[in-house]
Amino acid sequence: MPYYEFCCRSCGSFDRSHPMATVPDVAPCPGCALPARRRMTGGALLHTGSTATRLLDATARTAHEPAVVTAPPARTTTRISRNPLHHKLPRA
Ligand SMILES: [Zn+2]
Repeated sequence: MPYYEFCCRSCGSFDRSHPMATVPDVAPCPGCALPARRRMTGGALLHTGSTATRLLDATARTAHEPAVVTAPPARTTTRISRNPLHHKLPRA
């Protein structure tokens, strides 16, 4: 279902999801419960729960809530080649 933007005179704008056929012109404000008028914008089609939406949400969330780690990442072991020609190469 698309999201529609409503505007409350005292609290500001908020979004609500409605089916396109039954979208109301007025919705109760979640902050003050007064009727808020729908703004004339295009409905935002979002696929909540999809991989792309979760990635966008996680990316936006890291701007405000960076992930907290308890330890540095584990060191990766260097791969040792079994090719005898590689043993002649200089070591770093
Ligand atoms: Zn309000």
